[in-house]
Amino acid sequence: MFCVKCGSECEQFVDDNIVRYRCRSCNYVYYKNPYPCVSVLVINNQGKILLGKRHKDSIFSEKWCLPCGYMEYEETYIAAAKREVKEEMGINIEPRGIINVVSNNFENGVSSLVIVLLAYYEEQNNLVPGDDITEADWFDINGSLPPLAFSADNFIITKYRESINKFGEITTITLEGNSFTS
Ligand SMILES: [Zn+2]
Repeated sequence: MFCVKCGSECEQFVDDNIVRYRCRSCNYVYYKNPYPCVSVLVINNQGKILLGKRHKDSIFSEKWCLPCGYMEYEETYIAAAKREVKEEMGINIEPRGIINVVSNNFENGVSSLVIVLLAYYEEQNNLVPGDDITEADWFDINGSLPPLAFSADNFIITKYRESINKFGEITTITLEGNSFTS
């Protein structure tokens, strides 16, 4: 690979047992980090959760997942969550709090860090699947769920179900004032 800063050739080196690339000319080191992502557990007025079926051409195709996606640069995670739910499910939500944070290391080499948000949706059911989602529906947390694409989603839903069934609610981290400009 070539350096994006100066165009010179890069070399591999091992740093703390991790293989990294460094520019031979300007010494710039390329660190590989997990991608920041968001996912949203959306609950309707019957206490059902929202899942989407993934497009056949997407990774983990034709299995179901929580609405989720990558954060854009200069986008807050709250804005990213609202955008992803709108793009994938066609509805407007207002995230209420953080209910989980998970790390994913997929077999295809992609790593992500996912902030999981809770949102309520009390309007009429007018889901419009879009983006890489071909079908969207509400599911009873105590009923049978469709095949899930991500182990993390199974964990998130299980933790939510346990908390609701035991306490009637789930603890959240408040989102008030969570974005900064300095
Ligand atoms: Zn360079």
